[in-house]
Amino acid sequence: MSDKTVVKNRIKFITMDITGFDGDCIVNAANNSLLGGGGVDGAIHRAAGPELLQECRTLNGCRTGEAKITKGYRLKAKYVIHTVGPVYSGSPEDPVLLESCYRNCLELAKQSDIHSIAFPAISTGVYGYPTEDAAQVALKTIRKWMKMNSEYGMDITIACFNEQTEKAYEKYAQGL
Ligand code: ADP
Repeated sequence: MSDKTVVKNRIKFITMDITGFDGDCIVNAANNSLLGGGGVDGAIHRAAGPELLQECRTLNGCRTGEAKITKGYRLKAKYVIHTVGPVYSGSPEDPVLLESCYRNCLELAKQSDIHSIAFPAISTGVYGYPTEDAAQVALKTIRKWMKMNSEYGMDITIACFNEQTEKAYEKYAQGL
């Protein structure tokens, strides 16, 4: 972005466990049932406590690419936005669905008056999405959203959990 642009939205990359994020909201890479799983989903449920699962039970699941919001319970973050990434298949649908995850999370966050949000690398664990391809989709989508919502003021953190993810984001982060 040019120096002349008034930048109200920001993006940063931090190597961290997302459950420790101290902000308005964290994003969960959940599965269609929203009833908990492994990876980041399991970690978020463990840290938030059983009340999170209770609220998730009332949501009737979530379609791939869509997003639903709950409270954060014992987390520092006030809210959790649950989204379901695509299981990687190598089809042209994959990036479309992954893009829709990031976009829907940001839209739902805006509707909920959330101004700081942390994302994990959705779909890059058990769901098998190649890390670099996923980082490219994530950054392209976040950038587009920030441009279209330049006056909103959203502080976006990408929580990288390992070196591979960190490197992938570094590679595509130029120009942010
Ligand atoms: P998916 O099913 O969408 O692939 P996973 O939870 O298996 O979801 O993995 C998504 C990404 O989240 C992976 O890059 C994984 O390394 C990362 N991850 C796992 N636990 C955490 C955590 N506590 N904080 C941040 N990222 C995490």
